[in-house]
Amino acid sequence: MAEKIRVGVLGATGMVGQRYIKLLEDHPWFEVTYVAASPRSAGKLYKDAVANRWLIGAEIPANVANLTVEDANDEKKALGKCQFVFSALEMGKDEIKALEAAYAAEGIPVVSNASANRWTEDVPMLVPEINYEHLNVIAEQKKHHGWDKGFIAVKPNCSLQTYMMPIHALIKAGYEIKRMVVTTLQATSGAGYPGVASFDMIDNIVPFIGGEEEKTEKECLKILGTVKDGKIENAALPLVSSTCTRVPVVDGHTACVSLEFGDKKPSLEEIEKIWTSYTSLPQELNLPSAPVHPIVVRHEENRPQPRRDRETEKGMACVIGRLRECPVFDVKFVALSHNTKRGAALGGILNAELLKAKGYFD
Ligand code: NAP
Repeated sequence: MAEKIRVGVLGATGMVGQRYIKLLEDHPWFEVTYVAASPRSAGKLYKDAVANRWLIGAEIPANVANLTVEDANDEKKALGKCQFVFSALEMGKDEIKALEAAYAAEGIPVVSNASANRWTEDVPMLVPEINYEHLNVIAEQKKHHGWDKGFIAVKPNCSLQTYMMPIHALIKAGYEIKRMVVTTLQATSGAGYPGVASFDMIDNIVPFIGGEEEKTEKECLKILGTVKDGKIENAALPLVSSTCTRVPVVDGHTACVSLEFGDKKPSLEEIEKIWTSYTSLPQELNLPSAPVHPIVVRHEENRPQPRRDRETEKGMACVIGRLRECPVFDVKFVALSHNTKRGAALGGILNAELLKAKGYFD
């Protein structure tokens, strides 16, 4: 069997970092050999650093429990200990931007969940089923910085991944989407740990998540953009209006979406056919974390539901229900995805699998 690629997790003690540690426990290609977090955790064994705040199942994976947590702010500590890192840091944007660049400059590729580099022109913001061609900007990124092996690739905001694949499937099938109104009902795990105070969350809905609506309205245009002269040129449409809310659900972001098409309008039957037959490069390459069915359509009138549907396709599917005509726009539906799997750690792992399959870690 080929040797596994040694990987590091920056922010390994947090909500997303813990997911990475658990999901990488038996990964066929990657093995966690390096963990880093804030100076508060640095120097402790991983199992001690996360004692009383380990959130993912009963046991901390044995291969990581006794690793010493390093200070993520010192990129040189990672040298020789891993071949690339997942970044799940929660710090100021400028600090993360500088730190991710410092790792890349040391020759350590960064596959990031943080938002700091999402708007950097030559950094791909990947949803592998949608925009794998954006990998082509990495060559320009390396040239521009004079980086040899290192580079940065990022994931979009978790809430977008609830509905971007169905949008892309319709565009790929030749339907222009002019306008979209989306209301998200986002899980508490999306706010990290300890996140929103329990007193604000139990028996309540918070109708505001700082910065989230801006991300929702803008990031989809980069995801749907095209590569031109080594940079990503954003798509012009759809025009998006969003309202983002925090609801008392542990995992699973829900989105209520209304779409207006251009002159050519698909029927509800055509839309369902497009969604259920949607596959892309991750499925062709048979990447280990790729869902067989990226979009799953349910017909019960009361689905999708976070508790019942978030684990569909191991937490990597976009589950859609309640597809119907919209009296204001053309159609509307409800979509759901697992925010710390598809929307965060497993989505990051799928990005890394795509990068590996395309030779970016060679
Ligand atoms: P979190 O639970 O608050 O974890 C933050 C991590 O960052 C911890 O490991 C923490 O280490 C480390 N950290 C904090 N301050 C640091 C510092 N000054 N220097 C070095 N490390 C520091 O946050 P999270 O929810 O996992 O989110 C992590 C990242 O993923 C964020 O950028 C977030 O926006 C993004 N994201 C989250 C989700 C989600 O569903 N939660 C989805 C998509 C993207 P200590 O434990 O030592 O403090």
